[in-house]
Amino acid sequence: MSEITILGAGIFGLSCAWEAARRGARVQVIDPNGPGAGASGGLVGALAPHAPEGWAAAKALQLQALLMAPDWWSGVEAASGLPSGYLRSGRVQPLTDARAVEQAHARATGAQTLWQGQALWRVRPADRPGDPTSPTGMVAEDTLTARLHPRMALAALIAAIRAQGGTVERSGTARGPVIHATGAAGLRDLSNDLGRAVGRGEKGQALSLAFDARDWPQIYAPGLHIVFHADGTTAIGSTSERDYDRADATDTQLDALHARAVEVLPALRDAPILARWAGERPRAASRTVLLDAWPGKPGHFIANGGFKTGFAMAPLAAGLLMDRVLDGADRIPDAWRMAG
Ligand SMILES: Cc1cc2nc3c(=O)[nH]c(=O)nc-3n(C[C@H](O)[C@H](O)[C@H](O)COP(=O)(O)OP(=O)(O)OC[C@H]3O[C@@H](n4cnc5c(N)ncnc54)[C@H](O)[C@@H]3O)c2cc1C
Repeated sequence: MSEITILGAGIFGLSCAWEAARRGARVQVIDPNGPGAGASGGLVGALAPHAPEGWAAAKALQLQALLMAPDWWSGVEAASGLPSGYLRSGRVQPLTDARAVEQAHARATGAQTLWQGQALWRVRPADRPGDPTSPTGMVAEDTLTARLHPRMALAALIAAIRAQGGTVERSGTARGPVIHATGAAGLRDLSNDLGRAVGRGEKGQALSLAFDARDWPQIYAPGLHIVFHADGTTAIGSTSERDYDRADATDTQLDALHARAVEVLPALRDAPILARWAGERPRAASRTVLLDAWPGKPGHFIANGGFKTGFAMAPLAAGLLMDRVLDGADRIPDAWRMAG
């Protein structure tokens, strides 16, 4: 039986651990701060596709990740006996002016081929319960967007890993290949080790409301996600901040985001706030997933760069990395490898 050590119990580390465990490896996950201590312990969990236009490798990889998610998460749920909060909820977006309506119609055409018949994008009147306020009275709707409950998903992964005999602990001694899935801190460590900037953290704030609309499609407007979760909470995200002293502190930027969410969906006005949260996204310089061997450190690998879509990308990244580390089959896309 192969042994493998994963450093970091966020969505990347736990996804790698589950992929390794279900292939029969003896897995240990070590995180001195405990599971979900980084960005993955947040609130939002939108699994949202890129717009179906201007197609590029990154968009194709994201589509692949979104399409594999239902089977992957149902496997985690079956192994753990716990819900992940996954639902292909779909999404609606208010259309602010005539140009946005025209662009949305063009995207509907693009989706017919680019989404390979797997999902729809359409334009329709904003006349259903849960639809956002829309200046044109129209929304763009897609059936590809999904959501996960971040903390439920991590708990389900941990239980699935343990059910296969793996461990998730705060300390331990590395055995076998080592996967560094250490988020923003890991990008700083890697930059220091290589003497060049390969990535950094980018702060985000979000909040959670007691508002139960678990069957509604999620809402997206630029910079604003409203995600209705399986446990009867509603998440609102997210700010994007480059300059900050404390990555875990919330402030008035979150109040402004909350106010905007209420404008977009007035039904949220009186919903009590359950939690305010801030964390640091791991943003690679390439702005894509970073999946590769650690240069100059044989037996060490990097799984990082989830940035704003880590929950969507982690299962695909984990599978590709375990293909390479455990099975010797290197199918990692060039776009995800270390530059230079
Ligand atoms: C406000 C906000 C909203 C977001 N919304 C979404 C969203 O809607 N959809 C989406 O897909 N993504 C979203 N993201 C991004 C997503 O959260 C991240 O891409 C993802 O969580 C990154 O996962 P990770 O496992 O790489 O890193 P992390 O979750 O940060 O995990 C890294 C872990 O490594 C541990 N660690 C650090 N150093 C060491 C070490 N030396 N040894 C061992 N362990 C170590 C840390 O304790 C931490 O637990 C959001 C992020 C933020 C901040």
